[in-house]
Amino acid sequence: MRQKLVAGNWKMNGSFDLLKSLLEPVSQEKGLSCQLLVCPPFPYLAAAADLLKSSGVFLGAQDCAATPVGAYTGEVAAEMLAEMGVSHVILGHSERRHYQAEGDALVLAKVKQALAAGLKPVVCVGETLEEKQAGQTAEVVLRQVQAVATQLSSEQLGQLIFAYEPVWAIGSGLTATPDQAQEVHSLIRKALAEQDQQQAARIQLLYGGSVKAENAASLFAMPDIDGGLIGGASLNASQFLAIGHAA
Ligand code: PEP
Repeated sequence: MRQKLVAGNWKMNGSFDLLKSLLEPVSQEKGLSCQLLVCPPFPYLAAAADLLKSSGVFLGAQDCAATPVGAYTGEVAAEMLAEMGVSHVILGHSERRHYQAEGDALVLAKVKQALAAGLKPVVCVGETLEEKQAGQTAEVVLRQVQAVATQLSSEQLGQLIFAYEPVWAIGSGLTATPDQAQEVHSLIRKALAEQDQQQAARIQLLYGGSVKAENAASLFAMPDIDGGLIGGASLNASQFLAIGHAA
């Protein structure tokens, strides 16, 4: 049985004050049955690792380099993240696909680096509003999933987490209905199962896009939704923990 995972993507938000006020209650919360993951910006990772130590809360980064080491000014290697106590890394987020023009090939290269460093990649996929309106949701999402999945060994595949994040739902207040999200999650799992049935049954598939305490339980109750990737609501400890309790 897959465990639920509630992951917070802080994006480019935060401060040392927020780090402390958020991670103290999160690291002390009792009685959650899901896994928790927090992904603050790079400059806060070391302090976050310290605040979370022995709490059981996982620490993630929001990106990593597509190369292991060398003359790549401004980049952060997956190995460096692993050395800091990071266990997960968000890759292919729609904001990076859009603002940094990251394509499927680059996302795959980053996934390979993350895996080589022992990190679990949280690979984000999702269609834009235009693509949804053109009836291209399945095509776009499966292309993004398969661009990564088909290039990995079975063992590597089992390390992945996918987050289905319809771009039109991110930060917009619009959420896919549980049925809409389940339909896409089920398509993703079926596509993965065609490649490797055992791993497909194990891989956590998260939903992201305006998840809040009020809508989390109905989304997470769907059979192929194994938790959420949370943006805005992860910046508030009580909201984030309420989502955790809904999982
Ligand atoms: C995200 O950016 O990963 C996200 C899901 O954001 P929000 O929850 O704010 O829509």
